[in-house]
Amino acid sequence: MSHFETDAIRLSTSKSNQREHSAPIYLTSSFTFESAEEARQMFSEEIEGNIYSRYANPNTSDLIQKVCAAEGTEAGIATASGMAAMFGSIAALLQQGDHVLASRSLFGSTHQLLTRVFPKWGITSTYGDISDIQNWESLLKPNTKMLFIETPSNPGLEIIDLEWAGKFADTHGLILVVDNCFATPYLQQPASWGAHIVTHSATKYIDGQGRVLGGLILGKKELIKEVEFFARHTGPALSPFNAWMLAKSMETLAVRMDRHCSNALRVAEYFGGNKHLDFVKYPFLPSHPQFNLAKKQMKQGGGIITLSLKGGIQRAQRFIDSLQMISITPNLGDSRSIVTHPASTTHSKLTVDERQQVGISDGLVRLSVGLEHVDDIIQDLERALDLSK
Ligand SMILES: *Cc1c(COP(=O)(O)O)cnc(C)c1O
Repeated sequence: MSHFETDAIRLSTSKSNQREHSAPIYLTSSFTFESAEEARQMFSEEIEGNIYSRYANPNTSDLIQKVCAAEGTEAGIATASGMAAMFGSIAALLQQGDHVLASRSLFGSTHQLLTRVFPKWGITSTYGDISDIQNWESLLKPNTKMLFIETPSNPGLEIIDLEWAGKFADTHGLILVVDNCFATPYLQQPASWGAHIVTHSATKYIDGQGRVLGGLILGKKELIKEVEFFARHTGPALSPFNAWMLAKSMETLAVRMDRHCSNALRVAEYFGGNKHLDFVKYPFLPSHPQFNLAKKQMKQGGGIITLSLKGGIQRAQRFIDSLQMISITPNLGDSRSIVTHPASTTHSKLTVDERQQVGISDGLVRLSVGLEHVDDIIQDLERALDLSK
């Protein structure tokens, strides 16, 4: 099969002898062998088969198969959280003395990994600014092995040119890793632009309903073999139950993303030019500084918008407290609309200057546009803007 929707729904690992229609949950830590000889053959990889759920499980295989088809990648592993995927992709592929070039606007915990965790093992990193992409060559070191980027970035919604990144990585012999969490494979397929590894927090849009944590590392077979070895022996395995949830959710990713995107575009257009706001940022609004690039590499603009309120931190907090429906919670990509205020929460430890560098003003509110009726989302936001004056 070839269409995204069909593969996401119809691809599945083989049925059990119960002839079930929907995938069962294989809640088992290990699998039995017919004989001592079969056990020997599976351990020595002479024959394929499930051994132990830390290595593989039918539910994780099901999820991986669906997401690989969606991303156009050869192989993958599933992890217990998005951060286990970010960590694993770097830890499995790099060694002491290696250097990572990364885009500055990264998910908070990924930033902690690069600046606080990996240096303990002699893996260092340098940040590049996307406004300065023509100078990234000067940031390379003789030991640079990886280019790690996130696009659109969280929460600044900066867009990095994937075609450029693929060529840059190629020219300089780097492993290109793209965190594709915000776009999902439905909107953007980094591997088609040359990414060697694509990572996901499946917790977000792949689950889509705020229930379970999960992560994915996908990519070329020979690289994933290294990652598999790493995961087998360090144990970030995704639980079969969560894998089952996420594989089921893949079946509705396309229809959910269509609605997230159309709702988000409506909200962004509605509030563009609003007198209470300095700006509204959304990849598919013509006012986005990289609108053309977003159009080039994304099918639609995604489900995340940022609103920058006039009046700084206090005003943003008053606005959030005035919302009646929209939730205040750190997740995103949920069927329920969610707001967060980065300057007072996830990014409060950064200085004002550091926040400015990654596009976070004091009044910036990140809105994950949900699947409620768009008129109700707009009404809640508009009321809260008026009340928080
Ligand atoms: C949430 C998120 C992560 C981390 O994923 P978890 O599932 O929370 O561990 C990584 N990258 C991005 C862009 C995210 O939004």
